[in-house]
Parts: sequence; C-alpha cells; structure tokens
Amino acid sequence: MSGFIQAPPALGNQYLTDALLRSYLARVLPAEVMQRLQGELTEMGRLAGSELYELQLADRRNEPHLVQWDAWGNRIDRIELTPLWRRAEQIAVDYGLTALPYERRDGRYSRVHQFALVYLFHPSSDVYTCPLAMTDGAARTLLESKNRALIARALPHLTTRDPRSFWTSGQWMTEATGGSDVGASLTTARRDADGRWRLYGKKWFTSAATSQMALTLARPEGNGPGGSGLALFYVETRAAAGQLQGIRIERLKDKLGTRKVPTAELTLDGAPAELVAETTHGTRHIEPMLKITRAWNSVCACAFMRRGIALATDYARRRQVFGAPLIDQPLHRDTLATLGAELAGAFFLTFELIALLGREENGELDESGRQLLRLLLPITKLVTGKQSVAVASEVLEAFGGAGYVEDTGLPVLLRDSQVLPIWEGTTNVLSLDALLRTDLDRGLVALRERIERATAAVHETRLAQTVQTARDLLDRASAWLVATKDRVELEAGARRFALSLGRSIQLALLLEHAQWSLDEEHSEMSLALARRFSRLPLEQIDSTPAAESGALFDD
Ligand SMILES: Cc1cc2nc3c(=O)[nH]c(=O)nc-3n(C[C@H](O)[C@H](O)[C@H](O)COP(=O)(O)OP(=O)(O)OC[C@H]3O[C@@H](n4cnc5c(N)ncnc54)[C@H](O)[C@@H]3O)c2cc1C
Repeated sequence: MSGFIQAPPALGNQYLTDALLRSYLARVLPAEVMQRLQGELTEMGRLAGSELYELQLADRRNEPHLVQWDAWGNRIDRIELTPLWRRAEQIAVDYGLTALPYERRDGRYSRVHQFALVYLFHPSSDVYTCPLAMTDGAARTLLESKNRALIARALPHLTTRDPRSFWTSGQWMTEATGGSDVGASLTTARRDADGRWRLYGKKWFTSAATSQMALTLARPEGNGPGGSGLALFYVETRAAAGQLQGIRIERLKDKLGTRKVPTAELTLDGAPAELVAETTHGTRHIEPMLKITRAWNSVCACAFMRRGIALATDYARRRQVFGAPLIDQPLHRDTLATLGAELAGAFFLTFELIALLGREENGELDESGRQLLRLLLPITKLVTGKQSVAVASEVLEAFGGAGYVEDTGLPVLLRDSQVLPIWEGTTNVLSLDALLRTDLDRGLVALRERIERATAAVHETRLAQTVQTARDLLDRASAWLVATKDRVELEAGARRFALSLGRSIQLALLLEHAQWSLDEEHSEMSLALARRFSRLPLEQIDSTPAAESGALFDD
C-alpha cells in the first residue's frame, strides 16, 4: 500500500488570480469605474473560489426533483431545488446580476460590469446562470415590445435587488417538432368566452421550470403556418395561491449535464396568457430574448474554460511526475498554454460583444456598430460553445484518471459545457443564421473595419506575422463567399465560414490587447497568448467550394 495521497486542486480568489480579466477591465473601463468595482469583483471572486465552490463539491450528488402529487392525491407539480441554487439566487439578486443592465448606473459599461460578475459567478453556480439569462432576456424582450402593461407588471420583478419580489422567467420555445425549426410549433392559442387567451400544447424543453413567468410561442387559431403564424405570449405560471395555472409538469429531463437545472416537459392545458405584441410574427418578437441569452451563453463558455484552466494549472503545480511537478514538464506546460490561448481568444471576442451590447443599450451605437453586433452574436456564441467543450475535454485529460472520476468534481465541467453548443441555437443553425442574413455584406464590412482597427495599432515586431494570420483568415473566408454561388455549397460551408470569421476576429482582438498590455502594463502575457493562438489549427474555409461537398460515412 502506498502512503501517497495526492493533494486536490484548489481555487484562490477567482478575481484576484485572473490576470486576463483584470487586464481587460483596466483597459476598457475608465479609472473611476474600475476603482468603484474593485471591491465587488473581489468579493464575487472570493465567493466563487471558496464558499460557493465548496458548497458545489459538497452538494455534488444532490439534484432537483419533481414532486407531482401530495400525500392526499392532489397534483401539485412542485420542483425541489438544490441548496446551492437557493444560495445562488440570493447572491445573484444581491449583486444585481439581472438588475445592472437596467439600472445602467455605469452607462455604456453596465453590461461589462454585469458580465464581469457573471464570468466569476457562473462556474460556481451549478448553471443557475440559465434562469438568469432567460430573466435578463425576458426583461429586454418586454422592454422592446413596448407593451406598457406587461412592462409595468413584470419588469420590476425581473430586475429587482429585493429577493422577496424577485422573479425568474422561462423561455418556452422548443417543442418535440423542433427547437431549431420553431416555426413548426404545434401549441395553439385560443380565446375563451371572456376573451382571455389560453394556450394548449406541449413544450418539450423548458429549463428553470420553477420560474414565475415565461415568454412562449403559440399559434392563434386560424393563423397560417411557420414562424410568422406564431405569436409571442406572456404566461404567469402560478396563481396567487401557488398552484400552477393550466400547466402540468410531466417530468424532468434525465440529462447528460446541467443536472442541477430542472429542465421539464410541460403540458399547457388552457394556461392563461397575454399577448406581448401582435397576433403574428412571434419568432421576430422573441429575438431580443435570444440576443441576450446568446451573450450569456458566450460568457458562460469562457467562464467554464477559465475554471477548468484554473484547476488544471493549480493541480499541475501540486502533481509530481517523473521527479518534477507537472507544471515543469515542457509538454504539459505547452498543453496548458494552448488552453489559455483558446480562453483568451474566446474572452476578448465575448467581451467585445458585451461592450457592443452595452453601447447599443446606451444609445451609442452607429450603423457600423449595429452591423458588427448583429454578425458577432451568432458567431461568438457558436465559436465559444465549441471552444468550451474542447477545453473542458482537455482539462479532464490534464488530471489523468482523476479527471474521469466523479467525486473530484471535474467531469461535470465537460458535461455542463456540452450544452453550450446545443441550446440557444446549435452551431449549424447559428452558422446559417450568420451566413444567410440579408445584411451579411454590411456585417462583413463592419467586421473587416474592426479587425483592421484592432491590428493597425499593433507595432510590436514579434506580432507582425500574427497580424497577417488574422487578416489572411478573413480574406480567405471572404474569397470563399464571393466564389460560392451554389446554395447547396454555400450552406454546406456555413460552419467553416462562421468559424473562420470567429477565429480571425478572436486573433485580432487578442492582438489589440497584447499591444496595449505591452505598452501600458509591460506584460508579455497577452503577446504570448496571441502568438500561441495564431499557431492553433484555426478553421479555414477552402477557397474551392466543390471540394467541400460531403460524402457520408454510411452512404
Ligand atoms: C439542457 C437543455 C435545456 C434546454 N432548455 C430549453 C428552454 O428552456 N427553452 C427552450 O425553448 N428550449 C430549450 N432547450 C432546447 C434547445 O434550444 C434545442 O434542443 C436546440 O435549439 C436544438 O433544437 P432540437 O433539439 O429540435 O434539434 P434539431 O433542430 O432537431 O437539431 C438536430 C441537428 O440538426 C442540425 N440542424 C438543424 N437544422 C439544420 C439546418 N437547417 N441545416 C443544418 N443543420 C441543421 C442541428 O445543428 C443539430 O445538429 C434546451 C435544450 C437542452 C439540451
């Protein structure tokens, strides 16, 4: 029997130890804002690295469960949440994680402020960020709908800092007929004798089924097919006495990951609902929801990467192999450095998106900025989703066998990351969304301008080749688009095209920061990350489209 016991990885203060986040905030935030936020970020970093993380490990086996009946045979459909989720809600409300962008105390920086906190909070929250994302998305959607009655009714709850009146919102779109193809939805909306809308149908994936309200799609009777025949509805899930209103929770999904998130199948059997906007074009009216939840998804992808890398790096300092700490083994060090480069690329792209969102909400975005934001939304979500799964997989391997063992708390990182490329639009669906939009040309002009602006500032000679790599990637993607006339070939290349755009802007933004950091902080960290990133196998679209038509393995 060996007496050797391996020390587990530990987390420090997740803000104070995050050189990338701190350096980024120092660059983009005015000094007085930075100064003001320090205490709050430090405290959230502490919570994430200690209390919440410990609770997460201790509560590992606990899962939400559905209680459908009470002892006397009444159908109650109550979902019991885990202790960590209850604590996470308190923290989220206390820090204003859904309030900050609506209070807008930091003007255009309000979104950066909010998402810096979310970035720290997410990996220790057991994906409590899922209901928060939808809550934020619902607030935005209601505001954009200009439905004054619903705004007055729900917004104060969604954006409050008072835990007693806080509501979360669900987003019930997916049906068995389709999550991507939402236009195929079968839920119908009927007016009852009092003129009140009531919904009938089945919602196939509804996360955070404990929410007090939801935004959902249904087809008013008599409407035509497709997304334009759907309307957007507001539903309050429970009556004043607490019982569900015309809603049955049939079961909770038995999922690969996000197991702390109660994702339910619902039957709507006369659920009372209110129209949010007109009786048609529901898919268009719910777009603000998707905009916000995709931004959250991207931040959560980065946050998972950061957590995995923090744990793997700490472990590498503790673990001795072949007579030296893992961190001193050149190949292991190289492996971790590559993960850091992936995170850095994802981080700068995501926070570029967040900064644009903040400026848009503050009324400061010009047409070029709006175009850039529209194009970056699907691209950022899809690229970072893929990166987070790849990084999580490598993180598990960095622990060897321990990474595969449940009570280390590590496998959940991979399982939870795997949802990020699926929900809120899969990689393919978002690639097509980016490629087939009618204003793609203008989006590409805006993207090129941003890449030029980011790289034009780079004067460090060690980065010259890397600048060229970013520009070449964009050029190749643009050349493919011009050369590809056939619709089938265009669609078949959509993912490669979108990933190429994503990688080129990631590299450009990383370079921009690297130069700033060299000049202002005299730090070479971002320079090293940029150089490393440029040597990754960056997805490149082939400029000869015909070569890409796929033969299937099982054809
Ligand atoms: C844990 C979890 C929680 C969820 N929570 C919610 C929720 O709260 N609310 C909600 O509304 N939904 C929720 N969803 C559903 C989720 O948004 C959908 O599963 C997702 O959008 C994909 O839809 P689908 O399942 O119908 O897959 P499909 O659309 O059937 O996709 C199958 C495959 O086909 C590909 N594909 C689809 N269309 C095309 C195309 N035109 N060209 C090329 N490829 C294509 C997709 O990329 C995918 O690989 C949740 C899902 C999960 C896993």
